[in-house]
Amino acid sequence: MRKQLIFLGAPGSGKGTQAKRLVESLDYNHVSTGDLLRKAIEANRPLVNGVGKVINAGQLAPDEVILKLLTERLEKKDCEGGYIFDGFPRRIVQAEGLMQSDIFFDFVLLLDVPDGEVVGRLSRRYVHVSSGRVYHPVHNPPKVSGVDDETGELLIQRDDDREEIVRERLRVYRAETKPVFAYYTYLNETGDKYAPKVGSVSGIGSVHDVTRRVFLSLR
Ligand code: AMP
Repeated sequence: MRKQLIFLGAPGSGKGTQAKRLVESLDYNHVSTGDLLRKAIEANRPLVNGVGKVINAGQLAPDEVILKLLTERLEKKDCEGGYIFDGFPRRIVQAEGLMQSDIFFDFVLLLDVPDGEVVGRLSRRYVHVSSGRVYHPVHNPPKVSGVDDETGELLIQRDDDREEIVRERLRVYRAETKPVFAYYTYLNETGDKYAPKVGSVSGIGSVHDVTRRVFLSLR
């Protein structure tokens, strides 16, 4: 079984949901840079001054902010097992930085979902901010409408899940993040022995079906 994973995919492709399911059944640490940013913004940390506006416009946060949050997260003790990186790297320069670090990843999995599906999913998505758990009334409904299953706290709709912002996030994904998958594929083709292997599964269908595909691809 692969140990160190990177989940790539468009916004709303189910990266976070699938990462959380793997963490529940295997010894992984889920590291979501989006969650790290939202928590830092909620805590009003000076490091993320002005970053909320960037996120809510559908743009990517500055690399140095991401790097700082990621370094802090990886210093935590619970990061001794394998990692699942969700939402990082999102730019080729971030992927190159990761290749130069001492963290070795053995697999990059792309969750493939068409744009039309993404817009439908995100415009009806609700999140529990402190845990990052996400819900959807059809694909993944909470047990009680409007509240988180584990804590009973209220769910919110993210500002950047509004339709026009989702379209901008998709544009940024195509321009900046999709090339990251091509970058890893290229490294494999050139025989780079440190390059993680790459795989892709369809993110369409029920959460359970996609989890089965993810498990199969990791064997
Ligand atoms: P996510 O929760 O993964 O959808 O991320 C939400 C937003 O946080 C993204 O749309 C970006 O604005 C920002 N973000 C998350 N991860 C990164 C990253 N690795 N690089 C730059 N911006 C990021």
